Amino acid sequence: MPKSDSKLSILLASPEVVGFAKTGGLAEVCGYLPAALSRLGHQIAVIMPLYRIVRQLGYPMTPIYPPLSIPMRGQTISVRLWKAQLPNSEASIYFVEHPDLFERDDPTKGRGIYQFVQPDGKKIDYPDNCGRYSLFCRAVMEAIPLLGMNVDILHANDWQTGLLPVYLQELYQHRPGFRQIRCLLTIHNLAYQGVFKSWEYPVTGLSWKLFNHQQLEFYGHLNFLKAGLVFADWINTVSPTYSKEIQTPEFGCGLEGVLSERTHRLSGIVNGVDYHVWNSQSDMNLPERYDRETFGHGKAICKAKLQEEFQLPVDSSKPILGMIARLVEQKGISLVLKGAESIFSRGVQIIILGEGDAEYHKQLKKLKERYPHQLGLYLGFDEGLAHRVEAGSDLYLMPSSFEPSGLNQLYSLRYGTPPIVRATGGLADTIVDTTPETIHTDRATGFHFKEYTTEAFLSGVHRALDFYWTEHDRFRQIIRCGMRQDWSWDRSAKEYESLFYQMVQERNKVMKMGGKSS
Ligand code: ADP
Repeated sequence: MPKSDSKLSILLASPEVVGFAKTGGLAEVCGYLPAALSRLGHQIAVIMPLYRIVRQLGYPMTPIYPPLSIPMRGQTISVRLWKAQLPNSEASIYFVEHPDLFERDDPTKGRGIYQFVQPDGKKIDYPDNCGRYSLFCRAVMEAIPLLGMNVDILHANDWQTGLLPVYLQELYQHRPGFRQIRCLLTIHNLAYQGVFKSWEYPVTGLSWKLFNHQQLEFYGHLNFLKAGLVFADWINTVSPTYSKEIQTPEFGCGLEGVLSERTHRLSGIVNGVDYHVWNSQSDMNLPERYDRETFGHGKAICKAKLQEEFQLPVDSSKPILGMIARLVEQKGISLVLKGAESIFSRGVQIIILGEGDAEYHKQLKKLKERYPHQLGLYLGFDEGLAHRVEAGSDLYLMPSSFEPSGLNQLYSLRYGTPPIVRATGGLADTIVDTTPETIHTDRATGFHFKEYTTEAFLSGVHRALDFYWTEHDRFRQIIRCGMRQDWSWDRSAKEYESLFYQMVQERNKVMKMGGKSS
């Protein structure tokens, strides 16, 4: 049993890391989690591709010698590794340099890190993504002996790193310095799986014997995420409820069978919040800052200013329901559109900040024409405004059809804005529904509804509004309880630490017996 004070060596591999390259929540996890694990005293390194955007940062880096020699399609490709310090952390970050494969991103020309915009305006994946991320995974494996770490845990993230556990088990396990490594694969978004034509398979350098429906093949194609799910020692996703949901056809994106087979090695840990950025006590985006004692006064000022900013009638008696989201089906915007009339009939204001599908933009603009004094609408991305909507709203709307972890509900808690959520994924795990029992035990932090229907959504909203109007003291109790919650990265990191200890404990047992776990 590793003692709880024994320190682990962890290598986290990710296609994106906040501060260097970011397209979504994955980058935040892969930047903030290593920093928090490092604060717990573990030796931790992060590794990612060296994109053009990373090079342009001019961040101080030193080259690692010798360059890596990567076998690929019968050739040996030379790849350089660079080392830097992860910002605000003791952890190191390594970059895999291959200009042809990784330095083609240029937002001014519509080229991202995974996709580019075609002349017809359509965004599509780079046609060589299979080769790009095969090479990245192979480079991670080849880099391990050069890092000066005796790696205990290799932490893979999303499909781009799905081949890591396969390489470990099939090609590297018997090499010196690899036998003790155990691999965790974290799923941040099951909808993206890295699926490629079977003729691209040789670029992986793996034997065709693995290309079968129980391992790397998925309906005749190569599937990176499935590969990772089959070969990883442990799998986790970003909330316990989502880890169960993805084992069902409704949420499993075709991989529910693979996930169910590995159910005994599948768990969930909710992502954290960066409370330096999202904190009502110190947030310079707000017209007034406040804490658990002063929220009554502070939120009233934020609310009036928010109503002004959205050119709505400044009226403290009208509750504001706030919502900040990518305007895509997942976020439940269609429920809001269908339920709006019923909500507005109670004199409530709704404020929506978001951008996304053109059809939702159109429908929301129409709704604004019908309810100019009740709907506040900003179609665009504005970080500062997001903070002010969190602070100035009375209740927050998050009616997602699915939500692996979710951040806005956690921000709402800290800003004293009880969220109304669909009880799914991370929303079910982080928000405690208001019931007589949870009020009595002082645990209530928001309002749940279950079914993904307009009726269920409206019953949740009306229940929350009734509570807001009739239970003044108890509503304040919910606010205080929400503001007390700790969803920091330090809390998430402790859960990852326990999982890593469990993996290492099992490894030690198996190694003592001279075998390898299944
Ligand atoms: P997802 O990652 O699925 O989009 P999350 O709730 O996990 O959903 O995180 C979304 C993040 O993006 C939050 O920080 C949210 O405030 C921010 N965000 C989304 N849309 C906007 C917008 N239009 N303007 C500003 N911030 C936004």
